[in-house]
Amino acid sequence: MEKLRLAIIGCGIAARELHLPALKRLRDRIEIVALASRTREKAEQLSLMIEPKPRVFDSADELMASGVAEAVDLALPTILNPDFIEKALKYNLHVIAEKPIAIDMKNAKKVLNLENNSDKTVYIAENYRHIPVFQKAARIINDGGIGKPAFLVWKSTKLMDKEDKYVQTSWRKKPLHIAGFISDAGVHHIAATRTMLGDIEEVSAYLKRVRNYLGAEDTITMNLLFENGAIGNYIASYGLEFGNEISIIGTEGNMYIEGNIIKIFTARDQKTVEVQDNDGFLEEFSDFYNVVKFGKENLLGSSAQALKDLMVIEAAVKSFKERKHVKITSILE
Ligand code: NAP
Repeated sequence: MEKLRLAIIGCGIAARELHLPALKRLRDRIEIVALASRTREKAEQLSLMIEPKPRVFDSADELMASGVAEAVDLALPTILNPDFIEKALKYNLHVIAEKPIAIDMKNAKKVLNLENNSDKTVYIAENYRHIPVFQKAARIINDGGIGKPAFLVWKSTKLMDKEDKYVQTSWRKKPLHIAGFISDAGVHHIAATRTMLGDIEEVSAYLKRVRNYLGAEDTITMNLLFENGAIGNYIASYGLEFGNEISIIGTEGNMYIEGNIIKIFTARDQKTVEVQDNDGFLEEFSDFYNVVKFGKENLLGSSAQALKDLMVIEAAVKSFKERKHVKITSILE
């Protein structure tokens, strides 16, 4: 099998703890040939965890110009995504870049344009779109397993303390990405929600900042109206902790997602479906490989999909600021 020669740019938490384990399992398809980070030492350290040892470059520019890689994996502060994607495409490199696509919709549109005007692959790595439990839930819903889906409750709360490794990253302390963790983590939840229930038409939201050290609003409650007519409530907090829940209620039954388990209750039946436990990282790199090497259609990693996730968050922020319901498509205007 022809291996993809991949370089990692940005050797922080995501590269080390999330990408590397997945890429190691894909070593028959993907070889990590080069690394670069802002601090060379970080790249040196990561190189010691990889066999064969990749080349370490002083800068991303030098790496991209070298010709050693055919694709780059960008695991950078979100604000850098558009410029680094642009550079990579100029050097004729395929790109897989971490979510969110950009810090806001203005920049997300730039990335979409870059993708549309290049024959190279631009793949936004949104691992939640690849998580089997959400894909399975979507199939059950589409097959009528709970009747017509009518209501969603998504509650995700986790108090991030001051010492949390993500809170400690300098670019998250003073976030330039919209509403800090609300977009950083929120795009994951919206991606999974859209996987299961389709696109969102309109939202209204309140946001609140509970913890000053989190740099931006850390708590959101958002009402959702889906294009399929379902409604729902999305609650997320990084400044408070009061439980987690993913429930989808249909006309014929209720579905609860707990980790990798789906519980379905209907008048006739009670069922528990267990899905292979994983995090989506292996699947996203494997899908990227198939898109680049075999011309598979980029359905799960396109800029257009990632832009739609961010668009919902930006609509929520607009709704809060202007105290009104916001149509998602109005964010594009
Ligand atoms: P991080 O630990 O701060 O890593 C970012 C890395 O980029 C750092 O190592 C940093 O430099 C490097 N960097 C900054 N400016 C650079 C430049 N100009 N050139 C080259 N390297 C540069 O942040 P993170 O948590 O890994 O997040 C990175 C990305 O991954 C973000 O997009 C985030 O949203 C995403 N992420 C996704 C998940 C997920 O579940 N899918 C989870 C976490 C993060 P140094 O070399 O100085 O350290």
